[in-house]
Amino acid sequence: MSSTATKDHPQLAAIFNRDEPRVDWHDETLWWVRAKRDIAAHKLPEWELLRETASQIKNNVLSNLSTYLEQFEANAINNGIIVHWAANAEEHNKIIYTLLEKRGISRMVKSKSMLTEECHLNEYLLKQGIDVIDSDLGERIVQLAGEPPSHIVLPCIHKKKEEIGDIFHEHLGSAKGESDPKILTETARQHLREVFLTRRAALTGVNFAIAETGEFVICTNEGNADMGAHLAEIHIASMGIEKIIPERKHLGVFLRLLTRSATGQPITTYSSHFSKPQDGKEIHVVIVDNGRSIQLGREDFRNSLKCIRCGACMNTCPVYRKSGGHSYHTAVAGPIGSILAPNLDMEKYADLPFASTLCGSCSNVCPVKIDIHDQLYKWRQVIVKAGYTPKAKTLAMKGMAFTLSSPMIYRAAGKMGRFTFKYAPFAVNNGANPWYKHREMPKAPEQSFGEWYAKRKENKK
Ligand code: SF4
Repeated sequence: MSSTATKDHPQLAAIFNRDEPRVDWHDETLWWVRAKRDIAAHKLPEWELLRETASQIKNNVLSNLSTYLEQFEANAINNGIIVHWAANAEEHNKIIYTLLEKRGISRMVKSKSMLTEECHLNEYLLKQGIDVIDSDLGERIVQLAGEPPSHIVLPCIHKKKEEIGDIFHEHLGSAKGESDPKILTETARQHLREVFLTRRAALTGVNFAIAETGEFVICTNEGNADMGAHLAEIHIASMGIEKIIPERKHLGVFLRLLTRSATGQPITTYSSHFSKPQDGKEIHVVIVDNGRSIQLGREDFRNSLKCIRCGACMNTCPVYRKSGGHSYHTAVAGPIGSILAPNLDMEKYADLPFASTLCGSCSNVCPVKIDIHDQLYKWRQVIVKAGYTPKAKTLAMKGMAFTLSSPMIYRAAGKMGRFTFKYAPFAVNNGANPWYKHREMPKAPEQSFGEWYAKRKENKK
């Protein structure tokens, strides 16, 4: 993490791009997932209606967030769930640590939760002497590799099975050179079985929290959240404030959209409802803001809070597929991460809204109709105005604005450019020009379009 913290998206993407076969394989794998999503979506004639309904439900939620959250809290408490509120990542981490410390628990099992990645919970708990094991298979692999997830649904999609074999050989004792996915999965199963049976505390994320009933729903394909939560004496669920939906009947809309968008499956293998603790056990829900209410107040960007974390925008994004999730240096990568991250720290994530072609494919696939590419474009304007773009780029843009503001200067600059291209091409075709690094530079035309047009008009007379 630390080595990537000071590098920006183009620098980190360049590192990923060094291994060309891996880039091609990453690109093709994610496109395959995107194609599966298309097949699943096209099977439902009511797909667009579902998207629109989900989007409208979320509009209602965002406009009445405090009401629904308080309703959820009251109903959850009635059910016997203990509710905590955290304004930021620090408070979230502290609440969880205190819950564990009070009970003398030093080992916890965790199911996948991007919110805990956002809050850097694992690192925090490790510093306090608490051992956390991620139980989602992909998460466990990246955890053993000492890396963050590179995708919100497919955390280790950047790793090949041979590399996973090496990691399991080193950490879990599987045979050297073993890369059969079935055998590797069985190795992980045996390892996690012991973890589930011995951990007294389990942490899960929350996919949907229902205001009407005070219950919450967790979706997994491996059943790992259920194994952890049912066997532990204390279940802690971390949820962002935007995870709320008003009524139970709305759940069907989101469950039908979520996995079809994510992996092309009709439904997640396990959609588990938690409404009250078993006798003698505890359920705690930590409701986290961490910058979300600021985003809610940014009119142009509030829609980003509709996100249900399906990952479809990443699978379709040509930049994500070619640059890898780690190049985004934030917990949630890809197009949605690039509109969420600048809200948390505009300066640190100023590069991310520029990591897009603005082709709009992300907005097209988004099951809750977030205008992702419009927001990327708007963030660029906010970031440039705030002065967070690199100095060279800011200067170049100022120069461009100056040149384009006067036809005379524009024509003179054009002439100068054509002259340079023709007689001193090395002045532009060199390593300092990022455009040149990956492209053949075009030949300079003999004349500008304006000159050609004027001449043509003259000849026609
Ligand atoms: S922004 Fe839309 S497509 Fe992207 S992860 Fe969120 S819900 Fe899925």
